[in-house]
Amino acid sequence: MKTLSTDVVVVGGGATGAGILRDLAMRGFHAILLERADIAQGTSGRFHGLLHSGGRYVVSDPRSATECAEENLIMRRIHADAVEETGGLFVVTPEDPLDFSDKFINGAKDTNVPCEEISVAQALKMEPRLNPGIKRAFAVEDGAVDGWRMCWGLIESARALGSLTLTYHKVTEILSENGNVSAVICHNERTDEDIRIDCRAVINAAGPWAGQVAAMAGAHGVDVVPGRGIMIAMNHRLSHRVINRCIHPADGDIIVPAHTVSIIGTTDKAVENPDFLEIEHDEVIQMLNAGEVLIPGFKKSRAIHVWAGARPLVKDSRVSSTDTRHMSRGMAIIDHGERDGIAGMFTIAGGKLTTYRLMAKNVVDALMEHWGEDRPCITETEAVPSAQGKRTHRNSDRLAKVEKTRDHDSVICECELVTRSMIEEQLSAQPEANLDDVRRQTRLGMGPCQGTFCAIRAAGVMHEVYRRNSEHENNAAAADRTSTMLRLFTTNRFDGVYPLLYGEQMREAALNQWILQGTLDIDHLPAPSEPAKQATGDLGLLHGRPQPPKTQVIKPQPVSMTSATNEEGDK
Ligand SMILES: Cc1cc2nc3c(=O)[nH]c(=O)nc-3n(C[C@H](O)[C@H](O)[C@H](O)COP(=O)(O)OP(=O)(O)OC[C@H]3O[C@@H](n4cnc5c(N)ncnc54)[C@H](O)[C@@H]3O)c2cc1C
Repeated sequence: MKTLSTDVVVVGGGATGAGILRDLAMRGFHAILLERADIAQGTSGRFHGLLHSGGRYVVSDPRSATECAEENLIMRRIHADAVEETGGLFVVTPEDPLDFSDKFINGAKDTNVPCEEISVAQALKMEPRLNPGIKRAFAVEDGAVDGWRMCWGLIESARALGSLTLTYHKVTEILSENGNVSAVICHNERTDEDIRIDCRAVINAAGPWAGQVAAMAGAHGVDVVPGRGIMIAMNHRLSHRVINRCIHPADGDIIVPAHTVSIIGTTDKAVENPDFLEIEHDEVIQMLNAGEVLIPGFKKSRAIHVWAGARPLVKDSRVSSTDTRHMSRGMAIIDHGERDGIAGMFTIAGGKLTTYRLMAKNVVDALMEHWGEDRPCITETEAVPSAQGKRTHRNSDRLAKVEKTRDHDSVICECELVTRSMIEEQLSAQPEANLDDVRRQTRLGMGPCQGTFCAIRAAGVMHEVYRRNSEHENNAAAADRTSTMLRLFTTNRFDGVYPLLYGEQMREAALNQWILQGTLDIDHLPAPSEPAKQATGDLGLLHGRPQPPKTQVIKPQPVSMTSATNEEGDK
């Protein structure tokens, strides 16, 4: 078995793990991050996209509110390339009680969350689509954050400082000797090999899977309750700012404008297994109706994709284990030396993507204390290299870039303005990347057509690169790999479209099928070989991939387009 050695093994390549890797690297330690799939393919790539101002928690969870407000400022500085400073509004809709808004403004003062009441007229001028019946409005410093770009910024920053990141490497065993953690065994999912990594410490940042990973070291009963939430992307930006309902946190009470779309979310239900997240018909209806309360006519715009993620919530003795909505969003650190007699092993879970940096700092501080080292955290001050000297990301930036280069760089995905060179650049940094990996970093196929037009073109570009790069790969093998990758990509995209098949989206899906079947006969391509499956990551363990919904495909026109509270919404 191949053997490596390092100071610290970090398990999990979400925001928390990537933040820990960078923090360790900046304190001068060598670390190896192991991620069983791609970076931010877990919760950090399946979240709502909100850079919290803290406003959401000022009444229900004051500590999280203050942490969010403080980290919000830092995030805008160190991840300028991944954050869009949209600003946000909390509004009291005609359906909401007014008394919560007094608690809200007092809570904001007490928790130091910047918040200013503005007149209803001013709010409607800022956001003309808002429900004209709103009773009060408050401006806050919410923003939008691209989880993939943020995490990759962290990984690249850590790599430049000597750290190693191994994606598609699944941790299978955590070993200890004489009461100290000593090594981690992982399985390379692409080459089918095992690797042993000798280490002095392990930090488990496996999000909703943290309980499973802790158990590999013999630390049983780490109670991370996966709290499933669904989100729906609408086909364009319906507001300039993040729009929140000024009520106790509830389902479907936030709309985030992110890149080219608006995202409504989310629900919150405890689930057993974070690998299988169902998307229920009722929840889709519930989200669309909730959007209508904030923005009348919301349901008339096209819903283009739905997905689910699982919050890594640590079980809170104050609330029942199925009530994830009311569990604290605060972070929890477990020192397995103290808890289980496994010195040098820590688990961190809970928190928010907005507070990832603080979580990383706190767990690395705990490790420093264990080692008796005095190396302070410096992640607060130094921007990740990809963001250095940049103003915060704006949605129009890509358009400006494409307009400059359009004569020599063809656009492959028109919805998200992804060019040939963007795909080629990613493949030169990650020769093993599949179409889904490219999507996560470029947004290819994430706009209104959901890959209908661009997936085949992008696969063609990638096929050329695969052939150019691989001396030993023959044409048949490269074709096998490309068509396996395309099939995987279109299947994954369809998972998120299937629960929304009504109206225009149904027509779009039919067009998509005609193109894929009619021009490519995709269902009758030769069966993929095992090496092609491995090379493309089609491993049958794409976690987070929703199972086909329990309920039937939504029937044409299931949603009342006239009333915000139709029968289904009242359930
Ligand atoms: C529906 C929803 C909406 C949310 N919205 C927001 C929001 O708008 N703003 C916000 O700030 N926060 C939001 N959150 C919370 C936020 O997304 C999470 O707190 C955060 O992403 C958790 O990051 P993480 O790194 O701890 O976990 P993850 O991102 O889940 O990372 C854990 C990683 O561990 C990997 N892993 C698991 N097992 C193994 C193994 N055996 N070997 C190797 N790797 C392994 C997984 O593949 C995964 O990539 C939301 C969460 C949900 C569910």
